[in-house]
Parts: sequence; C-alpha cells; structure tokens
Amino acid sequence: MNLFGITKQDLENYFEKIGEKKFKATQVFEWIYQKRVWDIDLFSNIKKEKREQLKKDFNLDLIKIVKRQEDELTYKYLFRLLDGEFIEAVVMMHNYGLSICVSSEVGCNMSCAFCESGRLKKRRNLKSYEMVEQILLIEKDLGKRISNVVIMGIGEPLDNYDNVCQFIYIINDAKGIQIGARHITVSTCGLVPKILDLAHFPIQVNLAISLHAPNDELRSKLMPVNKVYSISLLIEAIREFLQITSRRVTIEYVMLNNVNDSRTQAIELACLLKGMNVYVNLIPYNETNHLEFKRSSKKRIKAFYDELKHQHIDVTIRKEFGSKIDAACGQLRGREIE
Ligand code: SAH
Repeated sequence: MNLFGITKQDLENYFEKIGEKKFKATQVFEWIYQKRVWDIDLFSNIKKEKREQLKKDFNLDLIKIVKRQEDELTYKYLFRLLDGEFIEAVVMMHNYGLSICVSSEVGCNMSCAFCESGRLKKRRNLKSYEMVEQILLIEKDLGKRISNVVIMGIGEPLDNYDNVCQFIYIINDAKGIQIGARHITVSTCGLVPKILDLAHFPIQVNLAISLHAPNDELRSKLMPVNKVYSISLLIEAIREFLQITSRRVTIEYVMLNNVNDSRTQAIELACLLKGMNVYVNLIPYNETNHLEFKRSSKKRIKAFYDELKHQHIDVTIRKEFGSKIDAACGQLRGREIE
C-alpha cells in the first residue's frame, strides 16, 4: 500500500496492530507532509525494527510529472501514473493563494456532450494516494504551498466516492497537508444519492453542482446523467444538502453559445433557484477541437448575468485561466494518449 493513501486514523490502527504506539502515525505524517521526507529509512524517531516492518507494508512510490505548460497565472501538469495512465491537474494563482484543480478518475463515464474528458471513457478510479500526490508533487515543483483544492479535474468525484473521501481526510488532517474544509470543493454533475452522503460527511467541504441547463429537455441532451437524476431530483438533493449543512452551494453553468445562454433561459434558471442559498458561477466555455460547441460572446454572458442579477440571484462570471494552454478538462490528456 502507498503511504500517501492512508488516513492518520488508519495508520494509528496499523501501528497498534504491529505493537507500536498510536502516536507514531502522527510522526509519520509529520515526516511525509510537514518535513516532506519521503524515505522511510530517514524516519529517525521510529525504531529500526518498526521501520523495516513499515517498509514491508508500505511504499512511497510517486506518480511522475511528464509535462508542464504555463501561461501568466496558470500551470497545467500532465502526470503519468505508475501503470502508465495519464491524468492532469491545473494550478491557478489567485490573489488569495494557489488553488489546484485535481483529477479524480482516469477518464470519465458521465459523457457530457461538451466535455473533453468524457470523450475519453473512464478507465479506472484514482486511488487516494494518486490524488494526494498531485498536490505534493506540484507544491514541490513550484516551491509553494497550495491553499485551495477543487476536485474539478478529469472524472466525476462522486463516482469514486470512497477514494475521494479518503483523499479529503488526508489533505484536511492537521498533521497532513492542512487544507481547511472550507478550502476544499467537490464538483459533481449531480449523482443525487452521493450528494446526500456528502451532506453527512464529517468534513464540511464545499459543494459545486454542474447544472448547465435550466430544464430537463436541454440538460438531458447535454448531460446524460440527467436521464437518471432529473433536475427536480437534483434540486431536492441540493435543498437537503443545504438543510443539513447550512453551507452555501455553488451552481456551475458553462456558457455555450446559442445553446443555454438566452435571456429566457436565464429567467428559467432563476425560477429554479429562487430562495435557495446558492450562487451561480457562469463559466466561459473552453472550446476544444473535437467538439462543436462554441463559447458564448462576452455580450451574451453579460446579458445572462444581468438577467440573473435582476431576478435577485447571486451570480459571478468565472475569471478565466489557462485557455491558451489546453486547460479545458481533459485536453492535455486527450492530446497525450491519441
Ligand atoms: N464531474 C465533475 C467534475 C469535473 S468537470 C462535474 O461534472 O462537476 C468540472 C467542470 O468543468 C464541470 O462543471 C464541467 O461541466 C466543466 N467543463 C467541462 N468541459 C468544459 C469546457 N470545455 N469548458 C468549460 N467548462 C467545462
């Protein structure tokens, strides 16, 4: 097992099982996450005999950065996993710190019509260590700490629920990478039962919902998942999430020219969300070569924004990062494996 993929609690149990004190788990976390020492032989406060045992049961194998692209405020990384698969992660420099967008799966099964990741089907889930290492290796490469994590790269995080939760436990741990719950966001296309599970998850992360359409007819065309979990089921789940957590939910809405960006659709969206503790994030579409969708003009985005404001819906337009460097989900990976 990879040591970057285990929670402190599980490591405590492990140490107890091999006849060691529980707090050795904290010491191991301090070595790997605080001192960034990634060699078990150097864990000097662990007895040699237990270190040997640890080496038998765990490894610290690393995925590899194979490419880095950058423009002004964005770095995009392509990683090769130990089995040869590729994934990507993006880092954005905000005024409040560095934010990383991590991948949760190799490919994706959700088949959203406008999304590059889904064009290349899911090959497998990512293990928690493969998500943790995206952060560790990028921090090492940049020589900087990351303050925010969005699980919004390739994959549907709630379709890989257990590994994603494990990942959140590890990065949120006070002895781990110490990313605060409010600095972690899980983005989903709308897997209703898992949204309800997440509402009860002990670490209070932010939830973002990829809605992208104000009615079932259009949403089912853009996002096949809607045929299983319709908008009304999704809104009901969001309401329940809000009730349980009292945490404001983000509604993501990608702006596709002449598809979902009319004034009527803005009004329809406002009706859907009225009275809910949510805000809408309008995302300028990143065009890709393989898909026919176009980005809405600035003018149309502004008009859509104004209409939502007029309807008293909180709304922002996402600041753009990295469109010059294939930052659309899955673009870099797509290029590598074709
Ligand atoms: N599966 C999850 C998280 C990964 S996708 C989800 O659906 O939320 C992250 C976000 O990027 C989603 O809102 C997705 O719809 C959006 N997206 C996908 N392709 C895009 C593109 N080319 N341009 C802009 N946003 C895109």
